[in-house]
Amino acid sequence: MNCDVVSLAQKLISFNTISQEGREGPCLDHIDKLLSSVGFTVYHSPLDECRGSLVARLHPNAKSSSLCLAGHIDTVPLGAEPWTVSPFEGDIRDGMLYGRGSVDMKGGIAAMIAAAIELAPLISPEKDLVIHCYGAEETGCEGSFDVTKNPKHTEGIKAAIVAEPTSNQILIGHKGALWLKGTAKGKTAHGSMPHEGDNALIKAVNAVISIEEMDIQCKDPHMGAFSKIVSTFKSGLNINSVPDNATFTIDMRTVPGQKSDELLLSLQQAAGDLVELETLLNVPPFWTDPKDPWVARTSDILQRDSEKPKPYQIQTVQFFTDAAALRQVLPTIPIIILGPGDPGKAHSTDEACPVIELQEAFELYREIIKDWYEIGA
Ligand SMILES: [Zn+2]
Repeated sequence: MNCDVVSLAQKLISFNTISQEGREGPCLDHIDKLLSSVGFTVYHSPLDECRGSLVARLHPNAKSSSLCLAGHIDTVPLGAEPWTVSPFEGDIRDGMLYGRGSVDMKGGIAAMIAAAIELAPLISPEKDLVIHCYGAEETGCEGSFDVTKNPKHTEGIKAAIVAEPTSNQILIGHKGALWLKGTAKGKTAHGSMPHEGDNALIKAVNAVISIEEMDIQCKDPHMGAFSKIVSTFKSGLNINSVPDNATFTIDMRTVPGQKSDELLLSLQQAAGDLVELETLLNVPPFWTDPKDPWVARTSDILQRDSEKPKPYQIQTVQFFTDAAALRQVLPTIPIIILGPGDPGKAHSTDEACPVIELQEAFELYREIIKDWYEIGA
């Protein structure tokens, strides 16, 4: 069966799956119908009644090594700036497919599903192909961490592709993220009688300055340096009261070798006893050995099928992806990030993916699946 990658990407864009609005269900149901129609067994992993993820297995009882194609179907909001095209219609202009999620990452999802649908009938019943479609990635990879905590959903997987936008180049690593929230408590009082109160804002400010002054030197040869910012600060309701509450957030991007519990402890020591730090998000860094034979083979496929061969080099990104969730439970398998669209256009106003990259990704996934399952030309 054939499934046109561009039409499928347009269809997926037509579902509003903005993460904060929590309406991933109808999009997942559509994917379920498509994959079920070619013989996949589909399992749903709901996060609540409207949100969740889907796992599809072609031959769930097969015991052989499986390839997993993975991605997320939720998107970020449209942003404050008005769009010049409809964000949910999938318009094509001058070779670009427009719409929220066209780059991040319904284009990649469409390409991997179209390739799986076309090749499903050719995969031997002794072998399984696994598809993971996650919800709630943009709010902190909740969908992928939820799916991967069930061992049934990752059983037998021996290699994985996360179809995030990379302009169809192979990426093999990214930093982790540790997001913290700091809270200071105090006692409110009239602004003219501050000695009656206990100022939470000052406690939080002192903690923020101590944290900012911490010099944490940690560098990875491929991913670069660890980074840390204080990103929000909230305190005080009115000018003439002592604030009794203050909160702030910290966004840290970690590199391999750093331990999040040790990092949290050192920040708590710097913040002192008057401020409590809690973890909002903890995504570990992700890395795949560039010398892995499957990575090398996949890179050969990229060069063979590209009009402009891209010499393979070790490439990583700063942002985190669902690869981190897969890596936590599959510590030794090769996982790559490879998908259509310019990552710099993700989350942008008038987000658009080159149609040619969608086609190219579809063909690449098809060749990678054929190579894995030894399907002849
Ligand atoms: Zn994404």
